[in-house]
Amino acid sequence: MPDDNSRAVDVLVIGGGNAALCAALMAREAGASVLLLEAAPREWRGGNSSHTRNLRCMHDAPQDVLTDAYPEEEFWQDLLKVTGGNTNERLARLAIRESSTCRGWMRRHGVHFQPSLSGTLQLSRTNAFFMGGGKALVNAYYRSAAALGVEIRYGAPVDRLEVADGQFQAAWVGKERIAARACVMAAGGFESNREWLREAWGQNADGEWPADNFAIRGTRYNQGVLLKQMMSAGADFIGDPSQSHCVAIDARAPLYDGGICTRIDCVSLGIVVNKFAQRFYDEGEDFWPKRYAIWGRLVAQQPGQVGYSVIDAKAVGRFMPPVFPGAKADTLEHLARQLGLDEAAFVRTVGEYNAGCRVGSFDHTALDDCHTEGVSPAKTHWALPLDTAPFYAYPLKPGITFTYLGLKVNEQAAVHFAGRPSRNLFVAGEMMAGNVLGRGYTAGVGMTIGTVFGRIAGAQAAQAAMNQGVHHAGA
Ligand SMILES: Cc1cc2nc3c(=O)[nH]c(=O)nc-3n(C[C@H](O)[C@H](O)[C@H](O)COP(=O)(O)OP(=O)(O)OC[C@H]3O[C@@H](n4cnc5c(N)ncnc54)[C@H](O)[C@@H]3O)c2cc1C
Repeated sequence: MPDDNSRAVDVLVIGGGNAALCAALMAREAGASVLLLEAAPREWRGGNSSHTRNLRCMHDAPQDVLTDAYPEEEFWQDLLKVTGGNTNERLARLAIRESSTCRGWMRRHGVHFQPSLSGTLQLSRTNAFFMGGGKALVNAYYRSAAALGVEIRYGAPVDRLEVADGQFQAAWVGKERIAARACVMAAGGFESNREWLREAWGQNADGEWPADNFAIRGTRYNQGVLLKQMMSAGADFIGDPSQSHCVAIDARAPLYDGGICTRIDCVSLGIVVNKFAQRFYDEGEDFWPKRYAIWGRLVAQQPGQVGYSVIDAKAVGRFMPPVFPGAKADTLEHLARQLGLDEAAFVRTVGEYNAGCRVGSFDHTALDDCHTEGVSPAKTHWALPLDTAPFYAYPLKPGITFTYLGLKVNEQAAVHFAGRPSRNLFVAGEMMAGNVLGRGYTAGVGMTIGTVFGRIAGAQAAQAAMNQGVHHAGA
């Protein structure tokens, strides 16, 4: 290969979401020349980050939009709980601590925060919400990056990387070779790559390919190309390719980029049936924000990967309505017909559930005493009979948020080869989130990891490029 390092930029950033932008800004602030390659065209820039709403922040006392305190230990315990210990404590604590100081820097680059709105009030202590959501955050970072002189190229998907002895050499976009002294990869997971999902998840007992019936909640551009490249290059990996974060979304959601407004949040207020009009799980197991992430998988395990969330008039106004209106009918029979379900089976299921309801004092803000008896599966809280017309139903399918497979890193966000850190190849965001979040999820932690490790990777890459620059100048 030609040694064109003399023409190379200092830092090449691959990706165009939160982690990539944080890295690009930090590298530029450290004095490096920076080129950012975003696979998406300009109008679709920003990856999954553009769908986000908030990041989780540690703080020891009330801080601007954050109420009360959320100390390091509590954040750590929350992470420990959701991951079931599948986390690297050193890296997790680093992310937690850095989350307390990053907002000043974010503001300097044009990000604005707002207090959480009704419907998300339970997060006002732990999560800082972006004014205008992730789209506004991403736009602010792009503006700031351009103003600082970061070169940005859209519609530039990297399809190949050259790595020799664990050191980054160049990236290829089609026939173009782009050399750089250091590189930060921040190109998301492989959640948009249906073929890879099919390969990782395989066929279920009914001969179905679950991946075929999933929607991707975010960008179509996270195809996992760099993850595959790193596998071939022998980099160290962490996490299980069959694991993903997935939630129940409206079955009418688009294949890509449906975002948060397609999520169905009324599950705990009614019942959920499968295509045979049978219930299959306790809809009232725990508070919805703690449970929504298990419903994608639960629906995925049903025949045809579909479900129907059914409520009656009493539930209206008690949940955030999704973007598509539900099916609506004055009788259960009519509702079943609209959904294409067996009428008799549906009426029987609702009838049995209604007969099993033991209504106490309904309170959706507490684990109340409204429960069922003699019904399987039981509904353990918020069990009210479905007896007040009109009745509503929303069709459900699994919506994949992100995959967990990632590259192993250290505190410097360096990619590792056979246990040894690369001197000039770094990684941030979803591509390495599995180091901290090996399993499960707690709201806002994706952006915490991306911001913290994006900033670290950018600073480290700038440093690595400077070191190499000196070496080359002298060579
Ligand atoms: C609907 C939705 C809502 C969410 N809400 C939240 C939330 O409120 N808070 C939170 O913390 N997390 C949330 N998440 C998770 C969050 O989006 C991710 O954790 C975070 O955005 C990951 O950032 P990233 O920069 O690693 O990836 P992304 O933002 O996905 O960016 C990846 C980028 O890489 C580009 N790319 C991919 N392949 C290539 C290639 N070969 N060459 C060049 N570029 C490439 C893509 O185009 C994209 O720009 C949400 C996710 C979804 C889908």
